[in-house]
Amino acid sequence: MSIDFIDIFLPVGVGPKAAGGNNRVDVTRVQERLNDWMPPELDRIPRPYGTMNRQTEQAIRSFQSIVVGMKRPDGVIEPVKKTLEALNDPRSKERWHRANLAEPVPERSASPRQTSISWEKELRSRVQGSQFDSTLTRDGKKAVLELDLRLLLKPIPEGIVFDADRKMFVTQRWNTHEWIAYKTRLAREAGTFWSGKFWLVPPESARSLTYVNNLGERWRVPVECRLRVHLATTRGHTKVLVAHLGQPATSEEALNRQLRRAHGGNAFRSHAQLYDQDDLDPVNRGTGLRQRTHVHEVGHAIGQPHIGQMTANVTSALQCTLAAIANPEQGTNSGICYGATAAEKQNVMGMGERLTAVNAQPWQQRILQHDSGALGFWEVKMTPQKRTRVK
Ligand SMILES: [Zn+2]
Repeated sequence: MSIDFIDIFLPVGVGPKAAGGNNRVDVTRVQERLNDWMPPELDRIPRPYGTMNRQTEQAIRSFQSIVVGMKRPDGVIEPVKKTLEALNDPRSKERWHRANLAEPVPERSASPRQTSISWEKELRSRVQGSQFDSTLTRDGKKAVLELDLRLLLKPIPEGIVFDADRKMFVTQRWNTHEWIAYKTRLAREAGTFWSGKFWLVPPESARSLTYVNNLGERWRVPVECRLRVHLATTRGHTKVLVAHLGQPATSEEALNRQLRRAHGGNAFRSHAQLYDQDDLDPVNRGTGLRQRTHVHEVGHAIGQPHIGQMTANVTSALQCTLAAIANPEQGTNSGICYGATAAEKQNVMGMGERLTAVNAQPWQQRILQHDSGALGFWEVKMTPQKRTRVK
């Protein structure tokens, strides 16, 4: 496919970086291209072209977030930079569109609860579950257990919302660009966070992870754990409502400032079925404790409780249980369940983003459904493992 090459000499967009730019001809060409390639769900840039406006800014940001993969789209297209390069890449249109087809087309045939044991070199089995589906693939070098989590995200309309502590906040309407950028980024980042961190070492009884090569040697391969978050449109494994609590200088933000003061300074608190617009960015949860809320909440979605319920430290586990009994309203959302020791607090199912072997639990349990002969102990390693020769 050949396309008209856009060459701009001054920046197009908003903010200080675009100062002195926004030349009429450049703006027109950018607007034409954006409208041309934009997915149907987004608002078109109105004609006449030539002047920078809000719809153009939003389209640039959406393009930067989804196609260019920028975490913080700045809304500016500069000469010889990434965004311009992507605007001249014929594949960008498809990328932009694909991101908005909310539910990816399943790549594999999904036969329910099929497990197979095969001595052939390649293996693939798929299991469907209520919390997530999963696929185990194996070749001669390694195996991958990928959890497929279908997340149904729903924007909360403007009005009011009650957070995890049942405190009231005011919401504003999501605009389409922001909404699509939010969910795309969430799915991508949560998937990355929970992938390639754990390797399961199969027990001897794990027949499907052992194969015989053409020299007659038997090898056993480790299993790399991965997560893929799919954005569901109708039915998801987990349904989550997402609040937009307003941007700086909006009336919603002003009201929420007052509400926060009334709530004793407490900010909006997300939970497993309720997120907010800031959950993608790290929040300070205490000294040395930084966490992106969404990676924690996706941890819940794949079946992990708070660290207080997973830790091998009996004293911590007991403290969490007692706190939950003493305060049934809070249950295992009691502060102590987010970690009693410094190391526990650092965990992603506490108040940080650290992972330890306990966090591999969803994969460790699911693998047993893929390999019926493998009820032995699957050791969790946190570094890539090599295949081993077996007798
Ligand atoms: Zn939690």
